[in-house]
Amino acid sequence: MATKKKPSVAYWLENTLYLNITNRCHNNCYFCLRNFRDGIGSFNLKLNKEPAISEVLTELQEVLNLKNWREIVFCGFGEPLERLDCVLEVSNWIKRNHGKMTALRIDTNGQGFLLNRGRNVINELKTAGIDKLSVSLNAHDKKTYMEVCRPSFENAFESILEFVEKAKEEALDVEVTAVTIPEVDLKKVGEIAEKLGARFRTRAYIPGFW
Ligand code: SF4
Repeated sequence: MATKKKPSVAYWLENTLYLNITNRCHNNCYFCLRNFRDGIGSFNLKLNKEPAISEVLTELQEVLNLKNWREIVFCGFGEPLERLDCVLEVSNWIKRNHGKMTALRIDTNGQGFLLNRGRNVINELKTAGIDKLSVSLNAHDKKTYMEVCRPSFENAFESILEFVEKAKEEALDVEVTAVTIPEVDLKKVGEIAEKLGARFRTRAYIPGFW
């Protein structure tokens, strides 16, 4: 059960360390865990304020030696690519100081191009040491995406597909995911992922963790 304790930037599940760097997101998915919970396990992920990059690094360093982490993942109660510069700086720091230790992943809604116009987002992520992207598509077509994810950006669905395609071109390890909700044709989402050359994974709807 999540408790009302101090909000966490760094939190973990088994051997995976997660970084909750923002609570901002340009989507309003009806199935978003934030609508139902304050956090994951015993960690409170509802931030009182967005942590500065230095605060992310401080919290990260406090827990880095707790375990032999298999992976560090940017994933919390918000979209990590709302803070591209934070992701880049923290990734750079990890690779510089603990490069051999662990893989780096971002769990994203795939709207990185819309959120960071004019930036070479995929290339910047790759250069900073990001190995993997897990992209939540959650719909088999634009109409369904608009209904279930309720994005602020009208062209979100198209932009996510482009994001996955570019990430594959840059040889990143990419998976596409979808939550198992009745509106979504999972078979069709799997076919889209296959066409884009990405792996496909389904994620259980609440109360599961993705
Ligand atoms: S994209 Fe993720 S963080 Fe944003 S509203 Fe949807 S489920 Fe929540």
